[in-house]
Amino acid sequence: MGNEVEVVVIGAGQAGLSTAWALARQGFAPESEFVVLDADDAPGGAWQHRWPSLTVGTTHRVHDLPGLPFEPDADELRAADAVPAYFAEYERRFGLPVHRPVRVRAVRRTDDDRFRVETDAGQWTTRAVVNATGTWSRPFVPRYPGQERFRGRQLHTVDYRSADEFAGQHVVVVGGGASATQLLGEISTVTGTTWVTRRPPVWREGPFDEDAGRRAVALVEQAVREGRRPGSVVGVTGLLTSTPYVREALDRGVLERLPMFDRITEDGVAWADGSFVPADVILWATGFRAAVAHLAPLRLRGPGGGIRMDGTHVAGEPRIHLVGYGPSASTIGANRAGQSAARQLRRLLRGPRELPRSA
Ligand code: FAD
Repeated sequence: MGNEVEVVVIGAGQAGLSTAWALARQGFAPESEFVVLDADDAPGGAWQHRWPSLTVGTTHRVHDLPGLPFEPDADELRAADAVPAYFAEYERRFGLPVHRPVRVRAVRRTDDDRFRVETDAGQWTTRAVVNATGTWSRPFVPRYPGQERFRGRQLHTVDYRSADEFAGQHVVVVGGGASATQLLGEISTVTGTTWVTRRPPVWREGPFDEDAGRRAVALVEQAVREGRRPGSVVGVTGLLTSTPYVREALDRGVLERLPMFDRITEDGVAWADGSFVPADVILWATGFRAAVAHLAPLRLRGPGGGIRMDGTHVAGEPRIHLVGYGPSASTIGANRAGQSAARQLRRLLRGPRELPRSA
């Protein structure tokens, strides 16, 4: 039967590419022993879809993939151009076996205890799966009473392109993360805005605080070990970086937040105490969920609503790894998790005797 491999990697973003690089280093042969299946038309993972004003300089930082430094020519370059160009070069340079566009529809167990990966372009049978599908395809919008009656426009950050399209309209931005603050800074230069968050923001001055980052990752790690849904790192700490860009918005007074509203009316948002803000647009900067619906036939979700993890693999199932999930949902975390998953899979599928000499 065709399309039989040892490992299928699903997704070719930072998580999938770092895993693929590491699998090759561990001695798995590209194409005949492992493949990468990616739903997008072109290299770049979610970065190719980011809004045009997100530049290399305004990202938190895109860490190098293993083996090739990310050296964009300028901070002003669009992240949606610079990162996909880097990923394309990375795939070429290391001969990574990426098949696209291939969308995985379902992963099932076979009768002989392997996995069948069903896609819109055929199927693969494999001994192990590394899922690296990120979150971009699963934007999360919370539900509020009256939401369906709102006559204005509602959009999530995944749909945002440019502030100019909101000129002359009042925009309510919902969400306490970095995307919300960046888009508020931008939109408030062309029109009126209101910022609404569940918790007051906690501003962190100066460069990235490694200790705070580690503490946040540890909290997310604990959540997935216990089978709870993973939150984002900002979500668990509430910490927001006070970059020069954010400080400028703070100085202009556009980052004065209001607590979460209680309901949405036909033409605005309302609080239980009777206050009301008229709105033409509600922009939901409310984050994402893990894009793992295609794993549903494997019944991995536990009573906590999440998938119980043991390091990078599903607890009790060392042949299924989730990279870029929970504590590894960052460019640096995905790098580390991808390499760890590849090492574990080599030990599991090959045994110690087949260790490549250089490993
Ligand atoms: P993605 O880049 O989303 O890649 C997933 C891939 O899987 C995609 O190519 C997709 O086509 C594919 N896929 C999905 N479903 C399927 C399927 N069913 N079948 C086949 N393929 C599928 N992190 C940082 O560390 N630094 C930053 O500066 C940073 N900035 C960010 C800015 C924004 C606006 C957002 C939303 C996130 C940011 N992050 C940042 C977090 C960032 O998303 C991750 O760090 C990282 O890029 C995610 O990589 P990934 O490989 O897990 O996912």
